[in-house]
Amino acid sequence: MIENENNLEQQLQGQIPEYVEEAPEAPEAPKPAEEQKPKKIHVDDIHLPSMGPRIDKDAEDKFNQEHHISRLGESIFKNAEIRDGWMDVDRQYLGERDVFYPEDWQFKIRPATVEAIRNWSTIDDENANSVDRVFNEILKSCFAIQTSTGPLPWYNINAWDRFFFILLIREYTFINGDSKIEYSEDCPNCDNPVTFTLTSGNLLFDMPDPDVMPMYNRSKRIWEIDPEEYGLPMQGVITLWLPTLEKDINIRQWLATRYQEKPDRNFDPVLIRFLPWFLPKISKDDTIAQRQIREFKRKFDSWDIDTFKFMDDVITNIIVTPDTKLIQKCPTCGEEVTSLIRFPDGPSSLFAMESKFKKFGKK
Ligand SMILES: [Zn+2]
Repeated sequence: MIENENNLEQQLQGQIPEYVEEAPEAPEAPKPAEEQKPKKIHVDDIHLPSMGPRIDKDAEDKFNQEHHISRLGESIFKNAEIRDGWMDVDRQYLGERDVFYPEDWQFKIRPATVEAIRNWSTIDDENANSVDRVFNEILKSCFAIQTSTGPLPWYNINAWDRFFFILLIREYTFINGDSKIEYSEDCPNCDNPVTFTLTSGNLLFDMPDPDVMPMYNRSKRIWEIDPEEYGLPMQGVITLWLPTLEKDINIRQWLATRYQEKPDRNFDPVLIRFLPWFLPKISKDDTIAQRQIREFKRKFDSWDIDTFKFMDDVITNIIVTPDTKLIQKCPTCGEEVTSLIRFPDGPSSLFAMESKFKKFGKK
């Protein structure tokens, strides 16, 4: 496919930064390694879909295209059936995102245990890795997937649903409605205060356009896209796999190991953004992951600019963007108002137990 690799390499290096500027999750452009000082992108600056709320201007603008937006409205536990602490999650709560799981999957949750909550209290709100670790711990102990051929590990969920399931577990844990996370903002329509409540049902997701959905294969959880239909002289159908939480976890692990080896290492955030879509799995074994990622990088580096632009368009259009905003009806004027997701007391307050006692001390 590629005749002149050197030329192409130069061309790509010259061109990619332009696209990077436009890419919603890739604020830094990769620079040609020889001439430029490597730009540091810290591991915490690389944002994978599962990492929960990080709000940026692009996401906010994108959000405003109302017709893409899906949300849940109903009270989650109205018809809940409780057995032995484990409860089947009614899949309709996933809304339009339900299509990204095979039909025979059943999700189960149980309330966070005292042990998990104790663990939760160790979260360091300022440290993304700490929040990440404890979020995963909650899922590990309180979330399960059952399929017609047996159970599947918790990390098989799509990365964008992680925070949704965590909030579901939270709501099940505090089923009596104590421990609400709320904050107020003025209604842009009438200036009266609107109270926003952080619940799974109030999360909003930016969905792919309906006209690209026929290219999604539900039973295999893959996208199959024929580049020839878009005038690209490429042979064969492009297969893209959904970005699962497992892949996010293993990419983060791989990144962390690379940083340990060489703290001033330069990563290409565009490559990292593409990675989970182009590999069905990413090994948790560092040697294998390294080989897989290197192999993908070779392919990624071989794309000409048209191919890159096409792939970038595809990823931008098929991704589900989570967790940017909450929606609430203004009690005064009835307008539907949105607000950026906030944790007024940090993510650690999500599973903080409310004590009936008067607090001892100020710390
Ligand atoms: Zn209002």
